[in-house]
Amino acid sequence: MDQVTTHMPTPARGHSEAPIRARILQAIFERRLPPGEKLTEDRLAELFGVSRTVVRQALSRLAQDGIVEHLPNRGAFVAAPSRADARHVLEARAVVEPEVAGAAACSCDAHGLARLRGHIETENRARSSGERGTLVRLTGEFHVLLAESAGNPVFVRLLTELQALSSLSILLYARGEESACPPDEHEGIVAAIERGDVETAQRLMREHIAHVAQEMDLSEPVERPTGLAQALGITPRAPRRR
Ligand SMILES: [Zn+2]
Repeated sequence: MDQVTTHMPTPARGHSEAPIRARILQAIFERRLPPGEKLTEDRLAELFGVSRTVVRQALSRLAQDGIVEHLPNRGAFVAAPSRADARHVLEARAVVEPEVAGAAACSCDAHGLARLRGHIETENRARSSGERGTLVRLTGEFHVLLAESAGNPVFVRLLTELQALSSLSILLYARGEESACPPDEHEGIVAAIERGDVETAQRLMREHIAHVAQEMDLSEPVERPTGLAQALGITPRAPRRR
């Protein structure tokens, strides 16, 4: 938990849950708080200089987005999605996100495009300086930003949850050291949105989600033998009847 303050300046002390939530989120996606880590309310309240109520509000918002899990009698933990959870998230993304990209191609204005382009520049800087955790967070945020530029608040809520779980899954199950969003693909999607080319925006997003899925190892691990007979490949005989 002390790691929360390691890499960043101390946040302004206040009573709002939003900066605390943002800070925890950043620490999770930059791998200073790994999936499964316990988030102790008392300690967080002490570190941030706020009441436990404020910490509880921040944790319950994170729980709504699937980032934090509350376990009965044990407290709050950073969520650790299973491979099955990760597959379900990718299936949902493959359905929703091409529609989001198509809607953005219809309705994104100059301000929205400038935000998307500015965000891609920030991603590229993180990529070239090798900050993988930051890159995973930023590439996830790009997809939420796209939902914002589509102007549909339901898309924004859906994408916020899907991206949070997706980013945690990438940290756990990515095959390589790269972010699961392949380089240059966000740029291609934004270029199609800028042209107002709905079909291409949808197709590129569909392909992008498929590439994200390919970058992750989501096959279930082979189960280890659970006994001598199974290890030796012998089916035990039924006991003789008297
Ligand atoms: Zn992406």
